[in-house]
Amino acid sequence: MTDALTTWAGSHTFRGGPVVHPETVDEVAAVVAAARHVRALGSRHSFHDLADSPGTLVALDRLDVPTVIDPDARTVTVGAGVRYGELARDLHAAGWALHTMASLPHIAVAGTVATATHGSGDTAANLSAAVRGLELVGAGGDVRTLGADDPELAGSVVALGGLGVVTRVTLAVQPTYDVAQEVWLDLPWTTALDDFDALMSSAYSVSLFTDWRGDTVGQVWRKHRVDAGTLGSAPDLAGARRADGPVHPVPGQDPVACTEQGAVAGPWHERLPHFRLEFTPSAGAELQSEWLIPRAHAVAAIEALRGLRDLVAPLLLVSEVRSVAGDDLWLSTAHGGDRVALHFTWLPLREQVDAALPVIEEALAPFDARPHWGKLFSGPGPDRTWQDLYPRWDDAVALLARRDPAGVFANDFLLRHGLRA
Ligand SMILES: Cc1cc2nc3c(=O)[nH]c(=O)nc-3n(C[C@H](O)[C@H](O)[C@H](O)COP(=O)(O)OP(=O)(O)OC[C@H]3O[C@@H](n4cnc5c(N)ncnc54)[C@H](O)[C@@H]3O)c2cc1C
Repeated sequence: MTDALTTWAGSHTFRGGPVVHPETVDEVAAVVAAARHVRALGSRHSFHDLADSPGTLVALDRLDVPTVIDPDARTVTVGAGVRYGELARDLHAAGWALHTMASLPHIAVAGTVATATHGSGDTAANLSAAVRGLELVGAGGDVRTLGADDPELAGSVVALGGLGVVTRVTLAVQPTYDVAQEVWLDLPWTTALDDFDALMSSAYSVSLFTDWRGDTVGQVWRKHRVDAGTLGSAPDLAGARRADGPVHPVPGQDPVACTEQGAVAGPWHERLPHFRLEFTPSAGAELQSEWLIPRAHAVAAIEALRGLRDLVAPLLLVSEVRSVAGDDLWLSTAHGGDRVALHFTWLPLREQVDAALPVIEEALAPFDARPHWGKLFSGPGPDRTWQDLYPRWDDAVALLARRDPAGVFANDFLLRHGLRA
């Protein structure tokens, strides 16, 4: 007997099957054409049933597609199952870079862009916003290519797997650059919130780590692009102190898995993620949730969460506050404007976390909070519809129905949230 297939965190056991591992786009097309229900699996870093299907599960980890850099167009085209960390190594070796990275480099490209996964940075949109084209196996097994000018592209990138199996992704790249990362400890919340915009713009990428207890933000991670000149010239963080050695975002955990700190400059892909590719960041004994709030409401939303500290802190490994630049992708959590992202890495206490989610959603509802598609949430919030949160929601629903009328790629997640009827 083989072990049941689960998400990386073990938070969902897949009901679908069999799991197939096609090696060519033609094989993907044949699998899709033959299936009544089918869905693509990424690296399974989502926390619920988003990637599940009542039918076949298509893993793209063996898809044999070459990585092709186009220096004139400043793009790279890559196989859907490639992990960001491996793509980043190849890009850097060829003199190119991505504009951002998520906290860990182990996630697969197509699953990542399907859920609006992001890093941090006032000027850095999420990873989905870098997509310039897709190759997609749609219902019936037809292979379609969507280029940058295709009017359906903005509705097809963050599609939560509902449009088919993506086989190739084309991403914008830029010349490679160096980043230096510094960590500060115990920044008073008063300093952080008095001029939140100045803090978040003091480096290319800024993350605040907190357990919501006490009067200080536990850690501030600042990642400076060396070519931006902020390293050494960004203001000191009044009231905070520089870390005198490497630290892990979760207090007490071994920082060996973390990317280099101490303001030592190095390649972008070895500094922008918090964790190194060669280490498994943790055993998966955690859950995650995150809400993205219009930037104008950042301070008020953080204050609202500080008011929930007695509920949240006992369930928490750590929280992270990040910034994300806006984009125009229909189901992107940053659609229509810049956002602050309020993230929770929970202890693996599913029942208690599930009970806390509606309370957090109620506290954040006045701020039009959009939940991260890949993490735990209960819905759009009290007295809110998805249409309230996403101006292009109805267009997205119509696109999924038009491209997949028989619901081959539908699943419980899409039905539950009204993306499929
Ligand atoms: C430890 C950890 C750290 C994380 N850090 C961050 C972070 O820093 N920032 C952030 O925003 N999120 C973060 N996440 C969330 C994570 O990035 C998302 O859940 C993302 O979807 C993971 O990609 P995946 O390949 O594992 O997707 P999966 O969970 O495998 O799938 C997600 C969705 O993508 C679809 N999909 C996958 N492959 C394809 C394909 N080829 N074609 C069509 N659809 C496809 C699936 O059907 C499903 O709907 C983190 C998660 C974990 C576990």
